Amino acid sequence: MRYLSTRGQAPAQTFSQILLGGLAPDGGLYLPERYPRFDAADLAAMRGMDYRQLAFAILSRLADDIPADDLRALIDRTYTTAAYSHGRSDSDFSQIAPVRRLEDGLYLLELSNGPTLAFKDMAMQLLGNLFEYALDRAGRDINILGATSGDTGSAAEYAMRGKHNVRVFMLSPVHGMTPFQQAQMYSLQDANIFNLAIEGVFDDCQDIVKAVSNDLEFKARWRIGAVNSINWARVAAQVIYYFKAYFAVTGANGEVVDFSVPSGNFGNVCAGHIARMMGLPVGRLIVATNENDVLDEFFRTGVYRPRKSAETLHTSSPSMDISKASNFERFIADLTGRDGARVAALWRAVDAGDSFDLKPTGLFDKVAEFGLLSGKSTHADRLDTLRMCWRRYATMIDTHTADGLKVGLEHRRSGVPLVCLETALPAKFEDTIREALGVRPERPAGLENLESLPRRVETLPADVARVKDYIARHADDRT
Ligand SMILES: *Cc1c(COP(=O)(O)O)cnc(C)c1O
Repeated sequence: MRYLSTRGQAPAQTFSQILLGGLAPDGGLYLPERYPRFDAADLAAMRGMDYRQLAFAILSRLADDIPADDLRALIDRTYTTAAYSHGRSDSDFSQIAPVRRLEDGLYLLELSNGPTLAFKDMAMQLLGNLFEYALDRAGRDINILGATSGDTGSAAEYAMRGKHNVRVFMLSPVHGMTPFQQAQMYSLQDANIFNLAIEGVFDDCQDIVKAVSNDLEFKARWRIGAVNSINWARVAAQVIYYFKAYFAVTGANGEVVDFSVPSGNFGNVCAGHIARMMGLPVGRLIVATNENDVLDEFFRTGVYRPRKSAETLHTSSPSMDISKASNFERFIADLTGRDGARVAALWRAVDAGDSFDLKPTGLFDKVAEFGLLSGKSTHADRLDTLRMCWRRYATMIDTHTADGLKVGLEHRRSGVPLVCLETALPAKFEDTIREALGVRPERPAGLENLESLPRRVETLPADVARVKDYIARHADDRT
């Protein structure tokens, strides 16, 4: 399998070659040259598979330069019930990403039973093991630098903790995360995890990461890498659970299923699009946004108009508070039929702070063929949906999942199962749950006293030089 850049001007690479990198050298994102296709016989065989077997069936087609035995071992090490069922350990791998029936034809795909209680664990845990494996084979180590406003940072840290050839330097705003999210990260005592609380807001953290990454000499000297949402292996690992959910809610492979996906950087829903391109009978992919409606605007009007980061609103579904959707370019590349020159031209406008409009080009008409549509949800909608779900289905969901359920129901079709992706557990967003329901969400066992655990975090001013100095002093620490 060869991977090509969405902008068409970078040399072809293998899966392992793009695993540790970020953007392609031409500024684009990597995609497989052609998506592997599962035919009717393949799908029939996959229907009986457990999560690990599905993961292998899918990833062996995408990561075809990893020897099959190695890939199988990596998958088995990652997808354990201990990691994905709140510490329960047995060998019932159907408990990984279970589907909960809310009522006939309406389901919740539970993706938040991993170590940090958000769906990002589904892919990030695999990424941790893939990184360790690839670095070992290359005799290298890496210093991951990232900025987080919540879920990404903790998922990355819990995926990389204890890895002997990886260190994580994670910048987070001193204020801005929920107390639970802070405690999750700062209570990690692993020697290869460095929490840097920055005296500023999330954008300051992101600006520092950008400034450090743009210093190519520093980056090379200290072997700086990233695990951001454009990483192809993360997207690939997210494809697996669409297959899992499809088989769980259908009786035969001719049936069609709609999915509703709480969206920010377009990584999760992009994986659903790729599942369809690989042959899964996906009907509609419903893109749910919060008040930060960049994506909803596009799917309604054909105009993609990323906002300035200062325009990003702080909402009660904070993991979807984005000003531009970093994986969106992958979908547009498919929409143009992989016309690299056209994608490059569109993103020349985007990178210059501008917008583009696909309506006049006729391309927008093709969006419906790909089954994508959208909607948005506000704080008031979120509270209403949390209450509705609690009363009608006796199910407590989180604020992001509520956005997905609200928008999904607006587009529900009779006779077509609708699967709403659960992207976090309510315990992560206690204040809003309390506001809606008047009760404190339950926590999985072992996390009751998270906030009182000892913390390992360094507070630094929002100053690039200070952060670089910190990295230089710790980047060679033996772990
Ligand atoms: C990251 C995240 C999202 C958004 O997912 P994307 O892949 O960025 O679209 C939604 N909900 C939660 C809880 C998240 O952590």
